[in-house]
Amino acid sequence: MTERKVFKDLTRNGSKRPWRRNKLDNLTYAEYLLMLHYRKAAKVKECGNVLRFKKAKDGSLKLYQTWFCKSRLCPLCAWRRSMKNSNQLIQILNESHKEYPKGRFLFLTLSTKNTYSDNLNKELRHYGTAFNRMINYKKISKNLLGYVRSTEITVNHDDGSYNQHMHILLFVSSRYFKDSDNYISQAEWTKYWRKAMKLDYQPMVNVEAVHPSKSKNDLLAGVKETAKYQVKSADYITDDEQRDLQVTDDLEQALSHTRAISYGKLFKTIRKKLQLEDEDDLVNTDDPNEDSVLTDSEIVVAKWNYELQNYFIS
Ligand SMILES: [Zn+2]
Repeated sequence: MTERKVFKDLTRNGSKRPWRRNKLDNLTYAEYLLMLHYRKAAKVKECGNVLRFKKAKDGSLKLYQTWFCKSRLCPLCAWRRSMKNSNQLIQILNESHKEYPKGRFLFLTLSTKNTYSDNLNKELRHYGTAFNRMINYKKISKNLLGYVRSTEITVNHDDGSYNQHMHILLFVSSRYFKDSDNYISQAEWTKYWRKAMKLDYQPMVNVEAVHPSKSKNDLLAGVKETAKYQVKSADYITDDEQRDLQVTDDLEQALSHTRAISYGKLFKTIRKKLQLEDEDDLVNTDDPNEDSVLTDSEIVVAKWNYELQNYFIS
């Protein structure tokens, strides 16, 4: 019998990529789908079972072939998607900045009161239309160059309600800061969001400008916030199976046919120009650092072993 070798995938700074942890969560999620009688359960369980990598000269691995289930809540796919989104966003922001060196970045967080599962899908759609309405308000649209938005849902385990909020990264012309005809205060953003959503209460809105002198770190933090998971797996994979089943079922239904992230105006144009539009390709995460190192490389194959609960080199 040949000796088994546990698969390890290290980043360049030596940290371990969380394949195993995400595959274990994927199996829990697949189990929940099976218990809830979702037809896709069996397919989800196959997600990322065989991973084929190319090995670069420096020993780093780049995934080049596998099968991903692409289910929105799949922890393995969500992890790949969030990496891809943040790599893409960094490239888009760099390019935008080149085109408009004086442009400034703002982070906007929009939310509403918590809602319950039967209303969640409707609310998610409502967020999208209200946002599109809002950015067409004259004072907003006149200085808006580009934007990217994503919706995050968190679960309140105490009362079973859901909180959704939208993270938006806005790129505005420097005129935005010129005077009160252009500058939009937090109170004004709140007023606009309330109007666009047609709410009868004051919603929570937060806006922060990225200071040009320290923009790099602030911007990266914002990119991570915007590109991160739509729902944290810790919200539906806990030690309470009954509750997890309810939450998984609610979210499966709420998220169907909704978009996780969308780009507008200049960001959309640049994304197209850079050919970053293939959202379904979770093998290639568009990490610009990964491409240069690949030459005629060695292939590494890792296979999931259900019994031993880990990936092994085969
Ligand atoms: Zn998956």
